[in-house]
Order: sequence, then C-alpha cells, then structure tokens
Amino acid sequence: MSLTYCALFGLDESQRKARLSMSGLSPGDREALRVLHDSVLPEAAPGLTQAFADQLSAWPASAQPFASEPERAEFGRRSSRFLLELGRVLEDPRWFEERLRDTVGWARAGVSLPAYVCAMGQLQRLALEPVARYAESHSRPGLAQTLMKVFALELSLAGDSYQLVHTDDFRSAVDAMHAKLTADALTGVSTREHLLAMLKLRLHVAEREGGSVCVILADLDFFKRVNDNYGHAGGDAVLRQVADRMRASVREPDVVGRLGGEEFAIVLEGAGLAGAVALAERIRERVASQPCTHAKLDISVTLSQGVAVSTRGESLESLLSRADAALYAAKHGGRDRVVVHEKGRSGGAQATAGRSSPIAMV
Ligand code: GH3
Ligand code: MG
Ligand code: MG
Repeated sequence: MSLTYCALFGLDESQRKARLSMSGLSPGDREALRVLHDSVLPEAAPGLTQAFADQLSAWPASAQPFASEPERAEFGRRSSRFLLELGRVLEDPRWFEERLRDTVGWARAGVSLPAYVCAMGQLQRLALEPVARYAESHSRPGLAQTLMKVFALELSLAGDSYQLVHTDDFRSAVDAMHAKLTADALTGVSTREHLLAMLKLRLHVAEREGGSVCVILADLDFFKRVNDNYGHAGGDAVLRQVADRMRASVREPDVVGRLGGEEFAIVLEGAGLAGAVALAERIRERVASQPCTHAKLDISVTLSQGVAVSTRGESLESLLSRADAALYAAKHGGRDRVVVHEKGRSGGAQATAGRSSPIAMV
C-alpha cells in the first residue's frame, strides 16, 4: 500500500513523529498500546460500536451529525476498525494513511467537522470505560491516557483532512463561479468575451507551437421570421436548442460561444480544415433535419456557416473576418450551407454548392 495521503499531506517520517509527539505519544506508550490492542479493545470493540451507534441515533435530530441511517451505520463500522487498529499507531505509517483516507472520506461525504469531532468525542468517552476498568483490575495505570492521546492525534489528522477538502471545495466553487461568469445566460454556451479570449489564447499557442486554429461562424437563417411567427419566447427556445446541438457535436477542448443575437462561433483545437468542415456539416445536418420545438410546435430552422483556418502569424481580427466572409458567402449562396474561406483565394470565385453538397469555398 502506498502512502498517497501521507505524501499529499506532507506527513513524511519526521512529520509523523512530530504529530505523535504533539499528541503526547512517545515510545513510552508502546506497551500501553500493545495491551489496548491485544487485550482490551478486541473484546470491547463490538459492544462499544453498538453503544456508539445507539447513542448517535438517540441524539435529537437538531444535534444529529449524520444525514442518514446508512451513514451512521458506516461510521459505526469504521469506528470499530479504528479501535481495533489503535496498536499500530506508533509502528506503522499505514495507520496514518488509513486515518487520513478515512477522515478525508467523511469530509467529502459532507459530515461537518463539528459533527465529526462530536462523534469522536462520544466514542472516546465510551471507550474510556472498559479501558479504565481493565486498567483498574490489572493494575495498569496509564492506559486511559494513552487512549486519549490517540484520540487527540486522530482529531489533529481530521483537522488536516477537513482543511484540504475545504480547499478542494473552495476550488470547485471558484470553478462553478467561473463557469457562470463565462456562460451566456440564455444558451449556456460561452459568452462572446470568453470565446474571443479563448480564440486569442489558442492563436498564441498555435503561433508558439506551430499549429493552427479553426473557427466556425454560424448564423441562423431568417431568424427574424421565427420571432415574428412564434414570438420572442419561441425564438429564445430555438436559440437554446440550436446551442445544445452545437455543444453536443463538439469535443471537450473545443469552445462553442454565442457572439450575439442568433450568431454563434466555435473555436476548434487541432482539427485541421477537413475536421472543421466535417463538424460544421454535422451541425448543419443536425439543425436542418430535426425541427426545434416550442409550446408543442415544431419550428424548422437552418444554419449558415463560414469556416476559416488560421495561417501562421495571423491575427484574431483577420481570421474572424475571413470566417465572416465565408459566412456571408453562405448566406448569399442560398443559406443552409457551409462555406470555407481559404487564404489566397479571397476574392476568388465561390464554388456555389447544390443542395446535396452544401459545402463551398470562397
Ligand atoms: P439571415 O438569414 O440573413 O441571417 O436573416 P435573419 O432574419 O436571421 O437576420 P436578421 O439579422 O435580420 O435578424 C436577426 C434577428 O434575431 C433579429 C433579432 O430580433 C433576433 N434576435 C437577436 N437576439 C435575440 C435573442 O436573444 N432572442 C430572440 N428571440 N431573438 C433575437
Ligand atoms: Mg440570421
Ligand atoms: Mg445575424
């Protein structure tokens, strides 16, 4: 078993020793731990686990640390293992590894730190009874103190785990906030600002690494009529559904954004012209072949698209204006089609496509 959690928490051997000594545990506790492990806890653990579970479930709902009965039962089972493994504290780094894994698990499961501390306090109180009884009858002073030190160590490790998970949560909260800030409110695809920022970034990377970036501009055909015939809400529904189809058509690193109104753009990574055209054609087909729906009505729409691939050192403005020229050509070529702008052919003849092959070049 590798010590992944120990590494994550920086608990190398010297740090583990520091933790032990902070909790008051020293080689002097070794004998007490052995007695607890061999003679006291195996016998006491089942009863303790049961009493622990009973007490927890008897707590009033307002003080109940666990969200559900299975969670409580699982905590009971784990606490039993915790008690049975106490003897390994000083000797075995895997004890640390398991305790960290366990407490990270609780923190991730949403059991709060106060609830965790409270439950462990309860378990400690229960465990002290049989330990103190044994210490009394076998004249072994110090057993209860050793037990308390292990609980102190356990709580200090739990504190670390909760801190880490809290940091993780913090990160995902920031991610969620970022997604919200970069998503277009109506359609959920990227905002214009985010899409352009991504395009700029990808062009920089392409420039540095010698690759290229593909852009697809897509504009709904005769969209004004959709608003006129089905109202603004109908138009909005169409925008959402078309955006969904675009999003469902791309791969993970590709960015779909709404430039404004009924105009969208896709920034593709490493697709090459053929890949970009194939994607645009797939999207065209997906939009044209299946009507959108609103208020139980079918609304058929089509998309015109312009595709351009960056050349070495090309600016964002130049790339977009070439894609826009191709989009313009698609509109003028009869709409519901894909037109590619190839640099060096600008101003050249546009190969107007027929219905069966709506891909053209400008
Ligand atoms: P073309 O094929 O030439 O692109 O024609 P079109 O009708 O799609 O283009 P036009 O630019 O004339 O009309 C775009 C319409 O899109 C006009 C505007 O009211 C509508 N629109 C822009 N933003 C929104 C929006 O957020 N929601 C809705 N429902 N409509 C919008
Ligand atoms: Mg339009
Ligand atoms: Mg438009």
